[in-house]
Amino acid sequence: MLTYDPAAVESKWRRIWAERKAWEVDLDRAERPYYTLMMFPYPSAEGLHVGNVYAYTGADIHGRFMAMRGYDVFEPIGFDAFGIHSENYALKVGEHPARLVRRNIRRFTEQLERLGCRFNWSQAVDTTDPAYYKWTQWIFLQLYKAGLAYRARAPVHWCPSCMTVLADEQVEGGRCERCDTPVTRRELEQWFFRITRYADRLLEQLDHLDWSESVKAAQRNWIGRSAGVTVRFPVEGGAGETIACFTTRPETLWGSPTWP
Ligand SMILES: [Zn+2]
Repeated sequence: MLTYDPAAVESKWRRIWAERKAWEVDLDRAERPYYTLMMFPYPSAEGLHVGNVYAYTGADIHGRFMAMRGYDVFEPIGFDAFGIHSENYALKVGEHPARLVRRNIRRFTEQLERLGCRFNWSQAVDTTDPAYYKWTQWIFLQLYKAGLAYRARAPVHWCPSCMTVLADEQVEGGRCERCDTPVTRRELEQWFFRITRYADRLLEQLDHLDWSESVKAAQRNWIGRSAGVTVRFPVEGGAGETIACFTTRPETLWGSPTWP
């Protein structure tokens, strides 16, 4: 009777693929280059999330399909290791992020290798590697020189228990999504990018993209442009003072009791 022993079969083939460098592509000489890009995992837990594996499996099958059709498939992998996810995990377990991230990356690498995806490990990136983030810094400097990065004070969501700033999507019903502590507001000096300068172009170009309507609608809402007029209402009894009011429905102004 034929028996299938996945541990033996898979480790044998992973070894042969590694020896033959089966998934490495010479990008300079590839005749039919094909890029299969997946989201890189955050090494911010003890191991890989099953959601990562779920997403990689489908993309890897597509990559294999394209390779069988004769394409030079480049399937990179890496670690989105900098920032809030790694820092929060380091806080949680009480270890310095520099040590913790290195250890997590080793663990994640072992797990990713066992998936048997056709990742090109020779091109792997780690965003905490100075050889990688020097380019992030370079991009930031170009934005700064172009006047697209600036500092300003602005209120942020703050979790007094996690002692971190939270993104809008990390606040659920006024509470921290991680620890359920009520979120407070804090004024902080911080860096901003002038993304609004590109809002019109982003919005107009969405029409030309071959994306699903639901994704395009989500993008339009995220850009959040609304067209309208600013009307100045005189203050009754004031010395020529006005109150500015933005409306997307100027035709309803005639209903206002103080319409001039
Ligand atoms: Zn919290």
